[in-house]
Amino acid sequence: MKPVVMPGYFMFPILPGQQNSLSGGMGDLRANHFHAGLDIRTGGREGLDVHAAADGYVARIAVTAGGYGNVIFLKHPNGATTVYGHLKTLNDTLGTFLRQEQYRKQTFEIDLRPAPGQFPVQKGDVIALSGNTGGSGGPHLHFEIRDDRDNLINPLLYNFSELRDEVPPYFERIALRTLTPGSRLNGEYARQTFAPVRRADGSYGLNQTIIATGLLGLEILAYDKTNGSPYRNGINCVEVKLDGREMFTYSMNSFPHEETRFINVHMDYETERLFGQRYHRCYVADGNMLSLYHTDQPNIPTRRGRLPMMDGQAHEVAVTLFDVHQNSALLRFRVQPDTAATPLAGLKPGNQAEAVTTTTDQNILKLAVRNLPDTLAPPAMLMEGKKTTEQAVSYIHNNAAVYLIDMNQNLPEMVQFGAGRMATNLKKRIIPGREDRYEDANVSLQFGPKTLFDTLYLSVRQTPWNLEINQNTIPLNDFMTATWTTPGVSDTMRTKIYLVNGRGQEKYVGGIWQKNKITFRTRELGRFQLMADVIPPQARFVSVTPNGLSARIADDLSGIRSFRAMVDGEWVLMQYDYKRALLWSDKLNPTQPFTDGAEVMLEVTDNVGNVTSIQGIISTPKPRAKPVAKRKRRR
Ligand SMILES: [Zn+2]
Repeated sequence: MKPVVMPGYFMFPILPGQQNSLSGGMGDLRANHFHAGLDIRTGGREGLDVHAAADGYVARIAVTAGGYGNVIFLKHPNGATTVYGHLKTLNDTLGTFLRQEQYRKQTFEIDLRPAPGQFPVQKGDVIALSGNTGGSGGPHLHFEIRDDRDNLINPLLYNFSELRDEVPPYFERIALRTLTPGSRLNGEYARQTFAPVRRADGSYGLNQTIIATGLLGLEILAYDKTNGSPYRNGINCVEVKLDGREMFTYSMNSFPHEETRFINVHMDYETERLFGQRYHRCYVADGNMLSLYHTDQPNIPTRRGRLPMMDGQAHEVAVTLFDVHQNSALLRFRVQPDTAATPLAGLKPGNQAEAVTTTTDQNILKLAVRNLPDTLAPPAMLMEGKKTTEQAVSYIHNNAAVYLIDMNQNLPEMVQFGAGRMATNLKKRIIPGREDRYEDANVSLQFGPKTLFDTLYLSVRQTPWNLEINQNTIPLNDFMTATWTTPGVSDTMRTKIYLVNGRGQEKYVGGIWQKNKITFRTRELGRFQLMADVIPPQARFVSVTPNGLSARIADDLSGIRSFRAMVDGEWVLMQYDYKRALLWSDKLNPTQPFTDGAEVMLEVTDNVGNVTSIQGIISTPKPRAKPVAKRKRRR
């Protein structure tokens, strides 16, 4: 749906009238959110004037160490809000107000909502200087436009003359995946990727043959570029046709702010987790409530953009990408019908059957087993409680017998194949949209009605210091609560829960102990580990002079929770840039120096409560003696 846009209402907020370029676009696929606006490049510099895009008033000023950093929200008479993020400093009026509030509340991070009449602005007023604060990877201005219902509007729809875009979007890769137990793609139940090639006429094609049957899901890894910038941005619009019939449209012109986390079911989350690539799924996956799509058969949840290859015929798939300025790219490929029956025999026999791969995807547990005792794969035995079910082999591929187990039918704790067997750790089906819980002797898990996007086939595995809840390749929408009884933990202050990712990096989760039971909340699944952070944060002064203080701070494991600086017993605002691990003072009265000889105290606390406190004395630096010229080192 295209939002109502009044041309000319907003002026470009930085270097108006000049050619600008972008390092980020609306709808770029980011971690847990769609990018909500434009990232406007500032030539690697900070300190450029940021202008109010229209008349209005300052509705919100906030400071966070991550996220937007220093940010201003302006509210306009037409109901719209504009947002300006990663600012270096605010203008004198707003900056003084912000600093006074930070001193009054004795806090660096703050969220202020001035009254509507307090700080009126006129279109073009300089409200701030651009910067690189918060979760910003280089100097730029983050700019958003929201309507009166907090829907994000793509600012490019305003056709700012400061931005030119004659560069078409492009395909990098595509993926196809089977979506039902009976689907096959080139003989497999699998997800496969393909590299599109550019044809002489500028369109894209595939050189590989694709043979398929059943329902297929298409995914694309695609980007857009704009004039004068090497950065690749997200895609504004995707259109998929099957034999000329419209199957799926995605359009990133406007979306409700509260829907942003559905990005984790819009993109292929598992591929993002494993390889860092963010593919757009060109069908509406189970649990995806985003309002960005038009599909065929919108009322049949099992279709909604999935490509049917069920009639034994060849089909043509056409995918078109558009940017806001209607530059486009077209990819066409054919899918051939799967006429050969999937082979069920022809295995090389062995005597030590083993599952070589185990994956779960689309409600299917896929086991590929090698070295079965027979060229004809015997059925696998699915054991669930006292019940045993036979599961016939689904197909044979790469000398492995592949069993596709529909977990809506069977949720086996153990699978036996030949003389081999494998524990699945599968415990329970957890259905989204309602509260549910799982309990065993040591673990209790509580799921809220919004925790899940899709049905979770819960698997739980425990070792003395680890608790695995499924894998980190399955997204959660909202938090769940876990309680874990662990033997032998004595230091309950410093020992907490960390989430360990695929590269072995730990992220602090926390938790509250009651005797030897720890309770924690998480919005991610995966491997949770108990670890002790016994090392207090590092802190050292860089300068302690009448002009100001600065210090470097860091923490090795749980991370920095808070810091506090005092000069002669008076609280002093410290600005914090986590990217440089740097704190520096910001005086209430910037022109008044600190008193020579005043006592300085800096206290830094990590997330488990380890505290480091360092002291210093304000002193005017002595004029430095001219340094002795260093002899040049020969190489
Ligand atoms: Zn941004």
